[in-house]
Amino acid sequence: MRHFLLLLCLLPIPCLAATATRVLHAGDSALRVEVVDVDDPARVDTLQRWISESAEATKTLSGRFPLRSAYVRVQQIDSRDSSPVPWGQTQRRRETGVLLYVRRNADYEALRGDWTAVHELSHLYHPYLGDSGRWLAEGLASYYQNVFRARAGMLGADEAWERLDAGFRRGEAATSGTRMDAMGRGRGGTMRVYWAGAAYWLEADLALRRERGTSLDAVLDEYARCCLDGNATLAPDDFIAALDHLAGGELLTALYRRHAALREFPTLDPAYRQLGIERGGNGLRFSGAREAVRLRKEIMGAEIKGTAAEP
Ligand SMILES: [Zn+2]
Repeated sequence: MRHFLLLLCLLPIPCLAATATRVLHAGDSALRVEVVDVDDPARVDTLQRWISESAEATKTLSGRFPLRSAYVRVQQIDSRDSSPVPWGQTQRRRETGVLLYVRRNADYEALRGDWTAVHELSHLYHPYLGDSGRWLAEGLASYYQNVFRARAGMLGADEAWERLDAGFRRGEAATSGTRMDAMGRGRGGTMRVYWAGAAYWLEADLALRRERGTSLDAVLDEYARCCLDGNATLAPDDFIAALDHLAGGELLTALYRRHAALREFPTLDPAYRQLGIERGGNGLRFSGAREAVRLRKEIMGAEIKGTAAEP
């Protein structure tokens, strides 16, 4: 956990910015965390601690980072945006990594409460899927930004379900009549792309657990170990077929074809029935039925307050 001061010398940027780098190791994988141009060592520590916790939350089921080697670069900015992390993105150039722009005055608690770092780190689970697979890529990150944070205790389990549901509602409101796989970049309907994608992965996770006795975590973990190349471009159906190959059968492909052709937001009714979730006037209601409680706990990693055991 030592800091190394390096000089960044990437043209056309002048060689001025000092970078404090810390490398996190997990099994055979390493994540290089670079804090750019921050002089105050206490602030560097705060930013490193935040990324450490976020990276820890996004480890695979077998306890490694999805990519053998990747980086996170944190840069501070002045911003009028109320978000502690006004901008984040995944970069896939020579190396795959995450770029996070952080408000200069955002404290640790504000950073920890923000979803952006976990969202971007979740993108390290998939290769580049092109415009037609953007809904799958953004959907995966949007699903896991809630799941991973709940499991890590950065979010209550009930709040994680509420946030997923709030996303689904935003997606439902943005439905445009265009086929899902034609909703590429620059075609509007961002909320639909993100949250219809998340609905796909929730449904996929439930189907894997119900019909294959496995989980999305397990399949993505195996994929990360055998096949994942963060810089590769894969056709979305090839990515899904590779996951199916690991899970056995064609469950994810069948679901993919159905969702890709949808012109409306997918219905959540079967998923919510299975999870024992009901939409009420004041947020969600969670059933105490044993199977539903077990399933919700398997996904979010914690018991939801107020649920009673099955009578
Ligand atoms: Zn994203």
